[in-house]
Amino acid sequence: MSPDDRVYAYSAVLLGSPILLKLFDHNQTLAARVFRLIKQQEILLTVNRPHSEVMSINHAAGESPVVVSQPVFELIARARAASVLPGSLFNFTIGPLVKRWKIGFHGNSVPPLAEIQALLALTNPHHVILNDRDRSVFLQKSGMEIDLGAIAKGYIADLVRDFLRQEGVEDALINLGGNVQTLGGAADSESGSWGIGLKKPFAGPDELIGVINVRGKSVVTSGVYERYFELAGKRYHHILDPRSGYPLDNELLSVTVISADSIEGDIYTTLLYGMGVEKGLAYLAARPEIEAIFVTRDGQVISSSARQFTFTLLDEDFHQA
Ligand code: FAD
Ligand code: MG
Repeated sequence: MSPDDRVYAYSAVLLGSPILLKLFDHNQTLAARVFRLIKQQEILLTVNRPHSEVMSINHAAGESPVVVSQPVFELIARARAASVLPGSLFNFTIGPLVKRWKIGFHGNSVPPLAEIQALLALTNPHHVILNDRDRSVFLQKSGMEIDLGAIAKGYIADLVRDFLRQEGVEDALINLGGNVQTLGGAADSESGSWGIGLKKPFAGPDELIGVINVRGKSVVTSGVYERYFELAGKRYHHILDPRSGYPLDNELLSVTVISADSIEGDIYTTLLYGMGVEKGLAYLAARPEIEAIFVTRDGQVISSSARQFTFTLLDEDFHQA
């Protein structure tokens, strides 16, 4: 390792998540500009504050269409398209249920069944009307709420990558808390690639199942162990099943997607989590540009294929299927 290969890490808390930027130049100013870019996006997209472009749409639900900026309109169009795919359990109108459960936020609780059922009636993605001509978004029923929590971090990670590229940066990594996007490789490593830890569910923060090595790719993980609460011996995690209104439970602990763009990774982690291993593998067979690593409750680590990454298993509790 030469002195030029030193890695500099910058951190912040944004999007309710720990954010980490790695550069190979000591450049505090550039790091500050990256964090400002993330902050600007948070201000546009958040549903955790009373005002944002997305909240202005939610506030006008059942009343009137709201004109938004081009990038927000395009992101909403992507979220809607993923939500109306046949059989999709990705649903960007899940907002009323997310707000009611408050999983990962202060004041979480298990809502009564009748309340869940009433809120489910407000989560039909076909009830979101997009108008390209004036870039307006209309939620047809009062009480509907868009939530971009399953797509926005991926979108923002790609914006950071594009910004760093424009600034002439060749090697860098941005981690938005489970959403990693990389430029180039890691100049400080022998392999010349970025090693991204696959976290061991329900273990200490540094405990890993294994390491995923990539160059210039995105690595996004969605898991049941990230945001959850426990009540009467049962765990309730933050990925909700839009059919039942309860946390989406199947054989999976996590899904990781390796792809060029992080927005794709973010959409697919949620889509594939909903499909489960068997359907997910079949779905990916026709999509070589998207690769996934499924971690199951019975300790299996299953990759769809491994063209864009290498994986090294580290934990003996898990085995590669
Ligand atoms: P993913 O698995 O990709 O998505 C899960 C999230 O998507 C859930 O948390 C929920 O919001 C939503 N969701 C649940 N079920 C579904 C479904 N079936 N289909 C589609 N979406 C679903 N966290 C804080 O604690 N405080 C904050 O102030 C805060 N502000 C944020 C602002 C922005 C702009 C963004 C993007 C995130 C913010 N977050 C905040 C984090 C946010 O609440 C989610 O926890 C986070 O986006 C989940 O990302 P993930 O990649 O872990 O999960
Ligand atoms: Mg996601």
